[in-house]
Amino acid sequence: MSSVLVVEDESAIAELIAINLRHAGFEVVLAADAEQAQAAVDRVLPDLVLLDWMLPGLSGVQLAKRWRADARTKALPLIILTARAEEGDKITGLDAGADDYLTKPFSTKELMARIRAVLRRKAPEALDSAVEVAGLRLDPATRRVTRRVGDELREVKVGPTEFRLLHFFMSHPERVHSRAQLLDRVWGDHVFIEERTVDVHVKRLREALAPVNGSSLIETVRGAGYRMTQQAPTLAA
Ligand code: CA
Repeated sequence: MSSVLVVEDESAIAELIAINLRHAGFEVVLAADAEQAQAAVDRVLPDLVLLDWMLPGLSGVQLAKRWRADARTKALPLIILTARAEEGDKITGLDAGADDYLTKPFSTKELMARIRAVLRRKAPEALDSAVEVAGLRLDPATRRVTRRVGDELREVKVGPTEFRLLHFFMSHPERVHSRAQLLDRVWGDHVFIEERTVDVHVKRLREALAPVNGSSLIETVRGAGYRMTQQAPTLAA
């Protein structure tokens, strides 16, 4: 399930947003100020953050700047919410690193559309759309993975963790992900799970992909991590 962190000090607004997000199938974590928001992000990286500009203490814009300066949260999908409507403020929000900016009051429909647009761009694995890489197709809605081998469409049997891992790889093909990043984004736990766990599940994933000739789609990048590639592997000299 995709998670959204809602950082909003007005509890009535926070609750209303939370109800709508839960109704749309998102898991919601609430934070009433920057300190709570930081603590939530330190535990688990959410798929997206809705960040109110005006917060007691550190403002939403200051928090956004802090997150953008940190390697772990640099790419965190972020929408800033504000009651201000002036164009100058909007630019300040986007300069702080927000992916989008929403002026209160907004409709649920608009909020959902903006969330989906930001996720599509930055974290497509958080959405339910099917993905296809190198003829391999993964459908989160039906939880099926298939690949055409010759003229036969074969189903790939993967466990739940390998499914999430494959979904993440397929949503960001050709990009190298470190073990720490994979723990953060796929397991949601970068503190208590050992990095070796990633290797175990990558091995299982490759084994699951072997019957459809897909083991080499997941490459080990020495000293860096793993990536999904659709390039033909080059033969070592
Ligand atoms: Ca506020």
